Amino acid sequence: MQDLSDNEWIAQTTYCVAELYSQGTRQTFDLGKFQSNLNGHAEDNLIAALVARTTSGAIAHGTYDLLIILNRSPCTSLMPELKANHVPACMTRLIDLQENGLGNGTWRFNIQLNYRHLYGGNPSSNWNRALNAFGVQQGAASGIGIMHGVGYYDVGVAIEMSKLQ
Ligand SMILES: [Zn+2]
Repeated sequence: MQDLSDNEWIAQTTYCVAELYSQGTRQTFDLGKFQSNLNGHAEDNLIAALVARTTSGAIAHGTYDLLIILNRSPCTSLMPELKANHVPACMTRLIDLQENGLGNGTWRFNIQLNYRHLYGGNPSSNWNRALNAFGVQQGAASGIGIMHGVGYYDVGVAIEMSKLQ
């Protein structure tokens, strides 16, 4: 798994790195680094890559730990709609992935999410951060393992923590 640079950790742009781990085969699949761009938020681009790699057969059917490390927490549907074409908020999409997997459940994911700070929205505000704090609670209630704050943004620590889940 890649790390985020100091500039990426503090960037306005959302960055994430992600990997899959199969407890069955003990194989790790580095999914790469993603950022928000014209195609969507960093999480949208990660999910698109995951869909591409599962439907192509590059990733076999099964259950995986999906470790995601983000500089900012996923956006929540509790905020005003952020995306074009009514694409759901990132936390909504991640909860769907946690609960339903892909390919009618033939790929399942136990998501471990680590973020450095709460997303403030655009324009950013403490009100939006408060809404995103509730969004994080919704993610945790769906079964997503979530860690945040100082000490947890270190990628190496996060990988070790995901093994304890
Ligand atoms: Zn988002």
